[in-house]
Amino acid sequence: MSIVLQAPAYIRAISPYIPGKPITELARQMGIPVEKIVKLASNENPLGMSPKARKAVEAALAGVERYPDQFDLIAALAERHGVATGQVVLGNGSNDVLDLAARVFLAPGRSAVFSRHAFAVYPLASMAAGAECIVAPAKHYGHDPAAMLAAIRPDTRIVWIANPNNPTGNFLPQAELRAFIDKIPADIAVVLDEAYTEYLAPADRADTVAWIKDLPNLIVTRTFSKIYGLAGLRIGYAVARADVADLLNRVRQPFNVNNLALAGALAALDDHGFVAESFELNRRGMEQIVAGLKRLGLEHIPSHGNFVTFEVKDGAAVNGKLLQQGVIVRPIGGYGLPNHLRVTIGLETENARFLEALEKSL
Ligand SMILES: *Cc1c(COP(=O)(O)O)cnc(C)c1O
Repeated sequence: MSIVLQAPAYIRAISPYIPGKPITELARQMGIPVEKIVKLASNENPLGMSPKARKAVEAALAGVERYPDQFDLIAALAERHGVATGQVVLGNGSNDVLDLAARVFLAPGRSAVFSRHAFAVYPLASMAAGAECIVAPAKHYGHDPAAMLAAIRPDTRIVWIANPNNPTGNFLPQAELRAFIDKIPADIAVVLDEAYTEYLAPADRADTVAWIKDLPNLIVTRTFSKIYGLAGLRIGYAVARADVADLLNRVRQPFNVNNLALAGALAALDDHGFVAESFELNRRGMEQIVAGLKRLGLEHIPSHGNFVTFEVKDGAAVNGKLLQQGVIVRPIGGYGLPNHLRVTIGLETENARFLEALEKSL
C-alpha cells in the first residue's frame, strides 16, 4: 500500500494554499515581458524594502556561515511593546507562529473556531494539527463576535481572529474586539493576527499587546511582510504571556529565522520614515482605487488594510481578462467569494494600470 494512504486522513483532507500568481509564471504563460506585468496580488509593499533594512541585510551577508542569533531582534521587539524578552517568539513569517500556536494547542479531538472569509492559514494550520475547523458565519463579510462565541464548543482550543481581516479588509473596532475576547473562556487560546495593524488609521489603533496582562490566553501576532516590505525574507512574531511563549518556543525550530531576516527586521523596525511613507502611499492609493471602482459602478468591501476586495459579475472571467493584460490580482473563490477579486494597493501608476485594465475587462 502507498505511504500516501498512511498519512492521517486529516492531512490528506487539506486543500493546498493558492498563492498570488508570481510575475515570472504569468510571463512564461502569456509571453508578456516581466517589466510589463503589474502584480497587485499578495499585499506586498509597492515601495520595496526600507533602504536601512537593505543596508543591514547586505552587511549581514558577511556572517551567513554562522547560525543565527535572535537576541537583538527579540530585545528590540520586547522594548517596542513594553514586554519581557521571554514573551516574544519569532517566526519564519507570522504564518510560522500561527502554525506554532496550532501545534501547541490543537490536536485530533480538538477544534478551532474562525470566521467565514477569514485568512486561509487558519484552516491550514488547524487541520495540519488534526483539529476540526468550526467556521462561524460572517456579518457584512467580517467577523461576527456573537456567531463566533456561539460556535465555541467544549473541545475548542483556539479562536483565530484577524483584525483587519484578509481578504475582506474588515476591521472590528478595538472596543468591540476587546468585549469579544473578554467573553471567550480563559482556557481557550485567542490568536489575534494583526498583520495589517500598521495600516490602521491612528484613531483605530490600540495597544492590544498590553491586553495580555489581563488576558493570559491572548497571543498577538505581527509581521514584517506587509508595511515593512520584507515578505520575501520571511519574518514575523508573536507576543504572549511568558509561559505561553515558552510553549511556542518548544515546538519552534531552533534556527527558524535566518540571519538576513533578523538583520533586516531589526533595521526596518526603526525606519519610521519608511513606514510613514508606506502608510501615506497606501492611504492615497486606496482613495485612488476606491474612486476608480465607484466610477466603474463596482461594489467594494471597505478595507482597513493595503488591499481592497470588490465585486464583479463573473470573478473568473474578469480575472482572466486582467491576466491577459498583464495585471495580476487575487481571485478569492477559495474564500467563498467567487465573484470578488482582491487588489493590493500599488504605486499610483500601477493602480492606474489596474483600473484601466479592469475597465476593459468588465
Ligand atoms: C499576509 C498575512 C500574514 C503574514 O504572513 P507572513 O507569514 O508574515 O508573511 C498574516 N496574517 C494575515 C491575515 C495576512 O494577510
